[in-house]
Amino acid sequence: MLHGKMMHQQLSIASLIDHAARYHGDTEIVSALTEGGFERTSWGQVAENARRIASALVQRGMEQGDRIGTLAWNNRRHLELYFGVPSAGMVCHTLNPRLSPEQMVYIVGHAGDRMLFIEKTFVPLVASLREQMTSLRHVVLLGPRDEDAAGQIPGLLFHDELLEEGDPQFAWPEIEETAPSSLCYTSGTTGNPKGVLYTHRSTLLHALSANHPDGMGVGASDTVMPVVPMFHVNAWGLPYIAAIAGTRLAMPGPRLDGESLAALIEAEKVTFAAGVPTIWLGLLTAMEAAGTRETSLKRTVVGGSALPPSMRAAFRDRHGVELIHAWGMTETSPLGTMNAPLAKHRDLPLDEQDMIGNGQGRPLFGVELRVVDSQGHVLPNDGQSEGNLQIRGHWVLDHYVGQEKSALTFDGWFDTGDIATLDGNGFMIIRDRSKDIIKSGGEWISTVDLENIAVSHPKVANAAAIAARHPKWDERPVICCVRRPQSDLTEAELLAHYDGKVPRWQVPDRVLFLDSLPLGATGKVVKATLREQHGDVLWDDAMRELRAEQDGAAARN
Ligand code: AMP
Repeated sequence: MLHGKMMHQQLSIASLIDHAARYHGDTEIVSALTEGGFERTSWGQVAENARRIASALVQRGMEQGDRIGTLAWNNRRHLELYFGVPSAGMVCHTLNPRLSPEQMVYIVGHAGDRMLFIEKTFVPLVASLREQMTSLRHVVLLGPRDEDAAGQIPGLLFHDELLEEGDPQFAWPEIEETAPSSLCYTSGTTGNPKGVLYTHRSTLLHALSANHPDGMGVGASDTVMPVVPMFHVNAWGLPYIAAIAGTRLAMPGPRLDGESLAALIEAEKVTFAAGVPTIWLGLLTAMEAAGTRETSLKRTVVGGSALPPSMRAAFRDRHGVELIHAWGMTETSPLGTMNAPLAKHRDLPLDEQDMIGNGQGRPLFGVELRVVDSQGHVLPNDGQSEGNLQIRGHWVLDHYVGQEKSALTFDGWFDTGDIATLDGNGFMIIRDRSKDIIKSGGEWISTVDLENIAVSHPKVANAAAIAARHPKWDERPVICCVRRPQSDLTEAELLAHYDGKVPRWQVPDRVLFLDSLPLGATGKVVKATLREQHGDVLWDDAMRELRAEQDGAAARN
């Protein structure tokens, strides 16, 4: 075998934090504290604390490959674990606090977590579940000693005490780049959540690729606000990207409401952020209420569910903020596509540029996409053919944790469960989740399209389209709509808003006005719940009509 003559180094998360400490050591990291207020630290201090915490874990008997759970917000202590745990050869397992207690117990047991670091917020929850979490050797409070918390969880340790006893010179062990580094479970809207185990290598390649100028594109002069939680697929890689780029960080902690985010943006002159559409809806509402026009925020990446075009336009036209649409999933680390135009798009009419910008974008270097039909035949990349979206690449899983069976197709692709189109340049548009798409008389109707139209109505706060059972067409669209406060929007008004925007047969049959939409653990609308609650509304209507007709006929006879 021939070898080139270049150095060979393992790709490791330790190299990220070492780089940040060495070249951006005094760059600031601002964190919102769970108990209120803010604290300021730096990459240099986070790097030192990462070594301290790693050494404290080893002193407590943790070994390479052990899973260390976190139940934590976006702040500097969580960052210390993000870097310290994998650099010591252990696995940082971020748990989503919005999961149900049963799911949390299941995940901790399934992962075999040996330690769990928790925010003060979760002390009562963990106290009630502690006995069922039998794999745990220690629970650690993310903060200083706290007698009240210690009284609730026997044997509770304290992060700040571990830092004090830890060794700031702790030497990172040699780690193979294919060793596991972090673990995240899918949100598990159907069945039990499944574990996706990332490697040092996949994490580094993802971070390097995602930060090119057409991607996150952040640099050392940016202040980055990761709103996407660190328990939601590694905060989309932002902590690692920030360490590579040496960006200043503004971490929002537990307060993700529009007012708190707007205040943090202004106070810390945030230039870049990332989060799911529901979060930006909150921010937009807060900015409009406060009459904010000017903001330091320049760009934000939005993904996790479809970005409504009306929101993208509102941020751009009213506040000068560019919303960059991205797509990904837990199984893909998460980023698969990000949206940035090609040179040839610059000369297109604005509405065509908008159409492209509203989609989910094109693949990052390092992943490939294809769409296939229900028999697995590859469909053309013509921007028209809708099919099952499949992906392969350096940061896509091949097995779920604990499963012998490959998660891939026979020819090595991962089926995402999304329905999409791809054009010749790889620009992808998600039409729907395969479980959500509405099958009306054999034709498909995209719930994403119907929702985008609904939320573009000025009197609508939020909306979800669902498939409702129908005696004639199998399924028909129904809109579950949350009106803006004090709005008098009627069903007829909203249905009229669809005129000319979709073919007549795609116009929803009904609008149901609700107080709120059910949100899942990652801030996405849980359509399965809406279908359970309202999926029979048309069927029930039809049956009532039928009965009325029969009664009428009986009366006439
Ligand atoms: P999760 O693994 O919880 O992050 O969920 C991944 C799923 O979220 C994807 O398979 C998509 O169905 C959905 N998703 C993520 N990003 C987008 C997006 N930009 N537009 C539409 N759906 C999205």
